[in-house]
Amino acid sequence: MMNFSKPFKQVIVLILVACAVIASSIGVTLSSTEAQTSGLSTTNSTPHSATNSAINSTNNSATGSTTNAAVYRFKVGAIDALVVSDGSLTTPPLPNYAPTAEPAEVEQALRERFLPADQLTLYFNALYLDTGRNKILIDTGSGRELGPTLGRLAANLRAAGVPPETIDTVILTHAHPDHIGGILTAYGRLAYPNARYYISKAEWAFWTAANVSLASLKISEGFKQAMVAAAHRHLSAIRERVTLFQPGQEIVPGIQAVDAAGHTPGQTALLISSGQSRLIHAADVFFNEAFDLEHPDWQTGFDLDPAQAAATRRQLLNQVALNPMLVLAYHMPFPALGHIRARGERYEWEPTLWQFEVAD
Ligand SMILES: [Zn+2]
Repeated sequence: MMNFSKPFKQVIVLILVACAVIASSIGVTLSSTEAQTSGLSTTNSTPHSATNSAINSTNNSATGSTTNAAVYRFKVGAIDALVVSDGSLTTPPLPNYAPTAEPAEVEQALRERFLPADQLTLYFNALYLDTGRNKILIDTGSGRELGPTLGRLAANLRAAGVPPETIDTVILTHAHPDHIGGILTAYGRLAYPNARYYISKAEWAFWTAANVSLASLKISEGFKQAMVAAAHRHLSAIRERVTLFQPGQEIVPGIQAVDAAGHTPGQTALLISSGQSRLIHAADVFFNEAFDLEHPDWQTGFDLDPAQAAATRRQLLNQVALNPMLVLAYHMPFPALGHIRARGERYEWEPTLWQFEVAD
């Protein structure tokens, strides 16, 4: 029988502990790889947050990442759904987001929500749906059109186990750069190369015209020109792959086009149905709670027909307040899912509660 001295025994114990730690970390690595390759995860945040860390170039904090989770999983009946963040943008609220409101009222609206009075953060949330029949992406994010805090959609999709090449259907709610700017990659190639693209006939006709008039927008001339150029660039790239639809039409099984004109001439909300479950994708019918829900008659500088946009906003908000239905609103705080409550002339947003296990 071997007779080890006490210090030698301590070294052996340390080696055994080290082996156990290495073995368990290999086990963790394997199990997370298995989760990635076996399709979508059934839980939120844990599997993909590690992957998101890996794709960020600014991982310089003590915890290894400076960003939060970028996908949220849920179900609409039998449909597997993911909200996928494209990023966020913090900008002065005036003049673009409330050009007709009194500055003091704008400041008060923000302060009531414990937000900085001189900053507005907009969130950009695309929706991915796997219906079993189709793999569908609703809007493509901003790509490189609106700066470095945006354009993260394709990478976040891939990190969540959805390679962009697997998407067969891209539905565009409207042709503003934060919704179509991700059609082309930085290298000018289609980010979703195997997809058929769907957009409303009115939206396509407006933005592909030789002369696009944005005279009624209350934003800078430079921004208007950039919007038109982005629309021409990205829409011309899908000319051979586009199908135009009309309001009311079923675009693909389970997804119906709902007229939401005003913000743009052919903006479309989407009614997603599976069994008894419903979700309405509200596109840019409203941007945020402090302004558009508390003050639904305030304009945004981006509404081409402000009166029509306000009427559309009230109509959709009343509809989902009277017949409660889950709402996704593209620019609301991630994951941008909630319900609407009417309170007098105003509306309230009730965010859905975070779920660890994915459920309808
Ligand atoms: Zn938008």
